[in-house]
Amino acid sequence: MYFYLVMWHYLLNKLPVRFYKIADRRKLIGGYYHLIADDTPDYIKNLYQIKKGSEFQRDLSFLKKNYHLISYDNFLTQKFRNQSFILTFDDGFKELITQILPILEQHQIPAIFFITTSLIDNKEWMYKNLLSILIEKVRLTDEATLKSIFKDFLDLKSDSEIRKTVSNFLINITNDTNLPREIAKKMGIDESQLLQTLKPYLAKDEIVALSKHPLITVGAHSTQHFHYKFLDQKEIKEDIITSCKIIQSITNQPKVPFAFPHNSENVSRDLLREIELENPEIKGFFGEFNFEKQDMVIKRFSLDHPQNEVGIVIKREGKNHWYRKLKF
Ligand SMILES: [Zn+2]
Repeated sequence: MYFYLVMWHYLLNKLPVRFYKIADRRKLIGGYYHLIADDTPDYIKNLYQIKKGSEFQRDLSFLKKNYHLISYDNFLTQKFRNQSFILTFDDGFKELITQILPILEQHQIPAIFFITTSLIDNKEWMYKNLLSILIEKVRLTDEATLKSIFKDFLDLKSDSEIRKTVSNFLINITNDTNLPREIAKKMGIDESQLLQTLKPYLAKDEIVALSKHPLITVGAHSTQHFHYKFLDQKEIKEDIITSCKIIQSITNQPKVPFAFPHNSENVSRDLLREIELENPEIKGFFGEFNFEKQDMVIKRFSLDHPQNEVGIVIKREGKNHWYRKLKF
């Protein structure tokens, strides 16, 4: 069995991307990035790895050569050929303007920028970004101080790997904006001052300008980037509609696409249908690849990691797709 699996992967890896495109019947697929930067900021460092400008350029050259890169308008009018690809960016970081837009302009590639609405104008940290900053600070803090700061949350008395335990505790905080702020205070980090100094997210006027750019569509990406698997259907519905309405009020776009924060786990097809019927301005749900039966969702895969070159990801995802279908 193991031998066949190894052979299966070996042979499929040898196939050119062209074969994957022929075998994959999906008309439209997508990819997403968060930000592109030569130096990873502290608020990202402990969450995921990102590509540098040169690596992003390489991805775009590959995509241009192998796919029809379509805009949101092409998607709405369904005017696209098979084997189309839609490029998207999540969360709403300032690098969309400073790093990404100039490169998209250079290649004349359209994209959707999905914005988490509570971050607009740097009103607050996305809680995961703040957690990444706290983990950086943990590295520089001595163990006795950590023991005292985290005594209310963790039993560190006989812990031999205090930094690791504290970092694990922090990275596992979910759907909570208050606790990271409370811990930042205990650690002596003025998070609101830091937010105003770094201004990691886009401002409202920048989003207005982007929405008028011929290559860019602005979409919604939830209000606070909470994990939907911990919310009930009513809360999910409210979050999707609220964030789309905020984006529409800022951009005046007739239609607003939506991308799920994390993934579309726990979101039913019926709920999405209901949202679309009741809110005709919401059009197009973008999710993760691992949602095979959900035909309401356009599948996207992550292109953030420097090792995730587009060709490699397409092969990996294609293999997973067939593997699940064949059920070895
Ligand atoms: Zn996101």
